[in-house]
Amino acid sequence: MQIKEILSVLEEMAPLAYAEDFDNVGLLVGDANTEATGVLVCHDALESVIDEAVSKKCNLIVCFHPILFSGLKKITGKNYVERAVIKAIKNDIAIYAVHTALDNHKQGVNKIFCNALGLINTKILIPKQNFIQKLVTYTIPENVEELRNALFDAGAGKIGNYEDCSFNSKGIGTYMGNEESNPEIGERFEFVENEEIKIEVIFEKHLQSKILKALFTTHVYEEVAYEIYDLQNAHQNIGLGMIGELPQEMNETDFLKFVKEKIDCGGIRHSQFLNKSIKKVAVLGGSGSFAIKNAIASGADAFLTADLKYHQFYEAENKLLLADIGHFESERFTKNHIVDYLTKKISNFAPSSPFGGIILSQENTNPVKYF
Ligand SMILES: [Zn+2]
Repeated sequence: MQIKEILSVLEEMAPLAYAEDFDNVGLLVGDANTEATGVLVCHDALESVIDEAVSKKCNLIVCFHPILFSGLKKITGKNYVERAVIKAIKNDIAIYAVHTALDNHKQGVNKIFCNALGLINTKILIPKQNFIQKLVTYTIPENVEELRNALFDAGAGKIGNYEDCSFNSKGIGTYMGNEESNPEIGERFEFVENEEIKIEVIFEKHLQSKILKALFTTHVYEEVAYEIYDLQNAHQNIGLGMIGELPQEMNETDFLKFVKEKIDCGGIRHSQFLNKSIKKVAVLGGSGSFAIKNAIASGADAFLTADLKYHQFYEAENKLLLADIGHFESERFTKNHIVDYLTKKISNFAPSSPFGGIILSQENTNPVKYF
């Protein structure tokens, strides 16, 4: 199996189009047209992890955080990023980063976080804006089913827990072809009035070329009439953070004890207790100070995230319990999810690594220690 085949499974797990604009996801180092020997999944592709990949004969490292985040002008090994990249290239090891592509996924980082806490009724905290487009097209009744199905197969028509969603309305279409036309119905220079069906479907904007290909290959007219619109609706299934509910409410002390145990935190820094019980919990794995206002607006009793500065604890405004549980800790189960996903989806991988096909790194790359 080639590395690129494994990368396409990773893209199914977390489409790169879901990543934030500032991010640097996907294949960062290496050649995807190489035979894969084994996959090592880690949180941070540090030099020690590259060493582990070498010793375990894995030539693909899948990391959560992109080791290459901003541009490098010199690669001389003067810092930990450059040393990791040099070592990977010297040893023919490819590095692929998932990061916000998985943060924004409904089954991604924050769902994993919620699952670790046993939260129920989860939904996205900050649904992604400017991500949905709408296709409107017109065809004859005989073509509707085939065309609609082709659009659905290309990814159109998904709304929340529903698929194959479309709106269809009857109308009259008119046209007259010129001397170079070749109309499916009628003749050149003939004014034609046809009963047509207007089909409307929505889709994620990164699927546009696939949707248009399905439209053009399935529509029966020589000239396809269609419109594409940007929608302002938020995408309820893509976005950062998540909110859910504890099956049973608890007081603040019990809640923090519970979080510490479930997530295995070295320590939790938190805003002052409000003597309220905790039921609704918002989470955002990694640096989430930007989402404090969203957590408050969502009606959460507590917001768990990481990388909070002194003044940001004031932003809780006595409206919720704000807790910094540690950056690594808040994302710690993500790598296990990636291993499970790849193991389930790749059944025909015969790795040459004696350690197996998909391996969880044993390196602890958390740079923060607790005293
Ligand atoms: Zn992170």
